Amino acid sequence: MKSSFYTPIIVIGVFALLFAVEKLFPLRESKAGLIARLVVNACMSALAFLVAATVVRPWAMAALNCVTHLLPMPVWARFVTGFLLLDLSFYYWHIANHKVPWLWRFHNVHHIDPDLDVSTGFRFHFGEVLLSALFRVLQVSLIGISFPAFAAYEVVFQSNTLFHHSNLRLPIRLERLLNRILVTPRMHGIHHSQVRRETNSNFGVVFCWWDKLHRTLGLNIPQSKIEIGIAGYSAPEDNRLWHSLTMPFRKQRDYWSKAGGGTPERAAADLQHQSSFLAEW
Ligand SMILES: [Zn+2]
Repeated sequence: MKSSFYTPIIVIGVFALLFAVEKLFPLRESKAGLIARLVVNACMSALAFLVAATVVRPWAMAALNCVTHLLPMPVWARFVTGFLLLDLSFYYWHIANHKVPWLWRFHNVHHIDPDLDVSTGFRFHFGEVLLSALFRVLQVSLIGISFPAFAAYEVVFQSNTLFHHSNLRLPIRLERLLNRILVTPRMHGIHHSQVRRETNSNFGVVFCWWDKLHRTLGLNIPQSKIEIGIAGYSAPEDNRLWHSLTMPFRKQRDYWSKAGGGTPERAAADLQHQSSFLAEW
């Protein structure tokens, strides 16, 4: 259980580091006030943590204790396959959060943040976190994962979620290199675009391979051409705390059209390279 003790320390350290460096080397220009966003994101995150600690984690631990290992495998092979399958199943869960209307009601609250930075990485509606408890039990039971693989994945999952949401401008050559393996800030920035086709791409959490394998990858959109958020919820008052908390339970708007009319589209001239090559600006 020692490794799970270090998880919050490592994750808080990663958060603090990214929070500082993304201010020094920003990737995208922000459009909303930072303090107001941070207050909303901190409150949403606090509720999400509460549900994760009191429901999701105990359920996942109970499922881990019940797991029976059916396949005769060496310890290292069980670790590697468990780690990879956890990430693949999160990729499917993320797709379900976009495609299933009642899941999207909750996941949309994460996407309406008008800017993207490390604080968005924890900003999930508590309803989404609660629903994920059922998924976690299924995931852990079906994969038959060992505790070391689960604990290792949790640290990598949380750290890379913070990293790919951050507004950190890495040198493009370094990011292209990292993006051969990991989901990186430019890649995930495209997932938070207001263009529907782009929101429905780049679903990966840790490894970028699942998007490549399932042809859901889109890397050739420069960050300067991306408007972050959800078009139908892009008015400043949409991102207030009470509105964000109650949004999944209200009548839903047309997500993809702006209040004044018009659907964000991508001009062909914006695209750089092929879809499998990460654009720079
Ligand atoms: Zn998403």
